[in-house]
Amino acid sequence: RRAAAVVLDVLDALAATVDAHVGELGRIDAVAGDGDHGIGMQRGSTAARRAAVDTHALGAGAGTVLVRAADAWADKAGGTSGALWGSMLRAVGTTLGDEDAPTAARVADGVRQASAAVRRLGGAEVGDKTMVDVLVPFADTLAAATAEGVPLAAAWDRAAGAAEAAAAATADLLPRKGRARPHAEKSLGTPDAGAHSLSLITRAVHGVLN
Ligand code: ADP
Ligand code: MG
Ligand code: MG
Repeated sequence: RRAAAVVLDVLDALAATVDAHVGELGRIDAVAGDGDHGIGMQRGSTAARRAAVDTHALGAGAGTVLVRAADAWADKAGGTSGALWGSMLRAVGTTLGDEDAPTAARVADGVRQASAAVRRLGGAEVGDKTMVDVLVPFADTLAAATAEGVPLAAAWDRAAGAAEAAAAATADLLPRKGRARPHAEKSLGTPDAGAHSLSLITRAVHGVLN
């Protein structure tokens, strides 16, 4: 399959898992934040999917489809996570480019660039109780597995497992960035909303890679 068609499947799976968890993500964000994470992710992922379908219909390659989807997400989602998700998808799209069959190593490099972009834009590091706590181990595990020669779907499966463990572990952390920081103690025992949504998405995306 052409990479652009896989990107459409990925964005479909992403938006579907956000739709399925929108209430849960809002409740988690409401513990110490403002409760809009589910709705923001839904607005962003829906707009991204629509932009991707339109761009793909014009015959664009995977990278261009992702960059247009990224712009739509950042534009429509609002909130901190909207800007960060826009920068993530843009970094992956820019790294992949429009070739039909990017290698697993290229995909892993795109995810690494996404991790760097989020840290650059948001200024959070591992341990601050944000999506960065999931993004970094996800990117590192994917890169390590593909470097060993593990095929993309199996490497992604391993990385999604690391993402799930890292998201659960954010429950023990105190937030040092974002809106949850002023209510830090209230969030103890609850995972970070953006970390949890990212882990759900990495797992959902695995379902369309093979
Ligand atoms: P907002 O906080 O603007 O209401 P959302 O609720 O959609 O936006 O997203 C909140 C999530 O964004 C947090 O749970 C956290 O994962 C992530 N986040 C917030 N600030 C940062 C940051 N500086 N760097 C990385 N991620 C962040
Ligand atoms: Mg919020
Ligand atoms: Mg908000």
